[in-house]
Amino acid sequence: MQSTDLFFPSLNQPFKAVITMHQKPDGDAMGSALGLYHFLKALGHDVQVISPTNWAGFLNWMPGVDTVIDYEAKQHLATELVNNAGVIFCLDFNVLHRTKHMEQVLTNAKCTKILIDHHQQPQVEAFTYGTSDTSKSSTCEMVYDFIIASGHGNLLDVTMAECLYTGLMTDTGSFRFPATTASVHRMVAHLKDIGLNHTRVHDFIYDSFLENRLRFIGHALLNRMEVLYEYNTSLMYITKADLQKFDIKTGDTEGLVNYLLTIQGIKLGAIVIDRDEERKWSFRSKGDFDVNTFAREHFEGGGHKNAAGGRSSESLEATVKRFKEIIKTYQNQLQ
Ligand code: 5GP
Ligand code: MN
Repeated sequence: MQSTDLFFPSLNQPFKAVITMHQKPDGDAMGSALGLYHFLKALGHDVQVISPTNWAGFLNWMPGVDTVIDYEAKQHLATELVNNAGVIFCLDFNVLHRTKHMEQVLTNAKCTKILIDHHQQPQVEAFTYGTSDTSKSSTCEMVYDFIIASGHGNLLDVTMAECLYTGLMTDTGSFRFPATTASVHRMVAHLKDIGLNHTRVHDFIYDSFLENRLRFIGHALLNRMEVLYEYNTSLMYITKADLQKFDIKTGDTEGLVNYLLTIQGIKLGAIVIDRDEERKWSFRSKGDFDVNTFAREHFEGGGHKNAAGGRSSESLEATVKRFKEIIKTYQNQLQ
């Protein structure tokens, strides 16, 4: 994987681009993809964003989201677009299997592949060019850096600003996580100078849910949370019946894990959701406890030091039981 700087001269020649991101894209994945989409369009390129799966309804206000293709829904068309692309941008993921069923198509594609991502241990051999920086708050910040470093920063407009601000806000937990550096705030200042209405973005992302989601959160906090004080760990499990009863859709469970860390003294928050094909884990930690390593070692996952995910093919009961056994071996690290 060569430095992304070496790709900049190619921005001056028109190309066909596909932009993709991790499955079930969050604010950072969709925001960075659409931010880059508008930038490449402004440069005159032919651009298509393809999401490996569907996405949360709270992203549907985003400028350009109506042009995004869901690979699972339009596999044939999406595959053709990938095969005809000259350049494929891979955003907000480190390994190709994070694109679920798109992995094979992306692996087979022979064109230029560019990685822009902030997760640990990227699959460097899979990309022609790339920037991987775990110190970055978000992929949106990295796309902003890419635009500025390319020498085309004058093209940044309110549309790109709204997209890029989305991931900056969601991946920093609204500017509170440690990765919220001075450069993050400088970027926000620049976006504000361009005309960004940050309250509008916040309202769309955080204040646009339906009543059922709030009722579901109440149920989960009351009936599905266990606090393991001995291990400074808080655990939550969501059953299939819970998802059905409250009509929970993609995105409705996002942010739930963060409640677990709001209890005084809790260093590890873990939530597992009984999805159709797997039990999906989300881990969050405070301080030195490395959930990236934890998720890799025990739950086929990964991510960042303080935010990671994983999976299990066991039953919900069995995976929760296993988690409780594993956590005993981390008692010292969690003090
Ligand atoms: P979340 O818990 O919000 O789904 O994910 C937290 C972080 O871990 C995100 O940066 C996400 O991209 C990453 N992540 C989530 N699940 C997985 C997984 O199964 N494998 C890997 N490598 N990363 C994951
Ligand atoms: Mn991200």
